[in-house]
Amino acid sequence: MVPPARPRKLAKVPFVELADGRLQGVVSSGSDIGRVYVSSIAAGTYAFACSTNNNRPCGGARGSFCNHIRALVTEAVLQYGAQRVARYLKADTPDAEPDADALVSAMTATRPAQGDRSAAAPVFSRFLRHLAYLEREPVTAPLPEMQWFPPTRAVA
Ligand SMILES: [Zn+2]
Repeated sequence: MVPPARPRKLAKVPFVELADGRLQGVVSSGSDIGRVYVSSIAAGTYAFACSTNNNRPCGGARGSFCNHIRALVTEAVLQYGAQRVARYLKADTPDAEPDADALVSAMTATRPAQGDRSAAAPVFSRFLRHLAYLEREPVTAPLPEMQWFPPTRAVA
């Protein structure tokens, strides 16, 4: 994980990533603490998808971005910076330094189509793996599955 460009509210959007050609992540339900949504926007087409962790379609994501997808963009801008998010999604905005609202406006203005929800399961399972790391006891021994992280300094 890259350190966030600015502090984020993890309770609202506990997981956000630019991966697999999408901005995607996990967004908490505003009303039910036991429910989360898996939301995504495809780069280039802005095809969007939102469903619960039980793969029920989000009622708000018919026709356009729901509040979960908007929250995902807001948190992605905090995590990665607006320019990086705009570049990844190929979102053209009039501003050189757009904010989350400008990015959402630029994407919704193209009337993006609803994407398929097949990505939700792998995104959610990656989120659960991240959670599993939080629950580990802090140790100094290497974790084999984390070896792909680049070393922070050269080993002599
Ligand atoms: Zn939604």
